[in-house]
Amino acid sequence: MQLTDTVHLVGSGDNGFSLTHPLDCHVYLLDGGSELALVDTGVGRDVPAIIAEIEAAGFNPGNIAKILVTHLHLDHAGGAAELQKLCGAEIVASRDVAGWLESGDEEAASLVAARQTGMYPVENFLRPVQSATAAGDGDVISVGALNVTVVKADGHSRGHLAFLVDDCAKREDCAKREDCASRDSVANREVDASNNHAAQRALFSGDALFPGGRILLQNIWDCSLAESIATVERFAELEFTQFFPGHVSVSLQDGKRHVDAAMAHITQLLPPPQLDT
Ligand SMILES: [Zn+2]
Repeated sequence: MQLTDTVHLVGSGDNGFSLTHPLDCHVYLLDGGSELALVDTGVGRDVPAIIAEIEAAGFNPGNIAKILVTHLHLDHAGGAAELQKLCGAEIVASRDVAGWLESGDEEAASLVAARQTGMYPVENFLRPVQSATAAGDGDVISVGALNVTVVKADGHSRGHLAFLVDDCAKREDCAKREDCASRDSVANREVDASNNHAAQRALFSGDALFPGGRILLQNIWDCSLAESIATVERFAELEFTQFFPGHVSVSLQDGKRHVDAAMAHITQLLPPPQLDT
């Protein structure tokens, strides 16, 4: 399902658009022209359904060069091993998550705990990936003509990343393409609202922030309200208009309002509201 010029939804479960396996998070495909990337991988129970969506959108899964993983939870990372094998793609995650993906660490993923609650049937496994590359806050990853800036987004879980995607390098009509392509950190991405750069920026927030300014705190070892709030404050400094979270709805315009909604609570010394799952 095409969402924008460069973003397609190729996986989504019951907490979304019921496109693929019910437990899948949103799986996004980024079209950088010469290269493709995925953001997150779904739960890993029905990877062929995701491949079928990629092909139905007119893409060759063999052109997927990178798989960007927001965090280790199974609904986001469970398909990483199989997708890497099928596409030959490089997996990119935070340093912590890259290590846990390589060892298939189900304790770190809180999968052992999640199975006990019945959230995941026993037959769900975190299969180790062949290799994963570590990325950190401010790193810029290129996916064909797209620039993807890595944003540290801890709180929901340890080593959570968000991705800020700028597609102006791909746009012929963008006067500041060179400028944009050479930007190397989130800090110097400040742009004035009058140019069209911000209009083409998308934030992929994983499970760090949802529509309506909601967050998702869980009773697991690595969840932190303080870090969740620090993440929202970091998002408040970014310029973007499209908002693509890991579940529920997406926003093609005015996506920053979800950050503003969370900040309205934070500035009153209150936690943002919880996502109702
Ligand atoms: Zn999660």
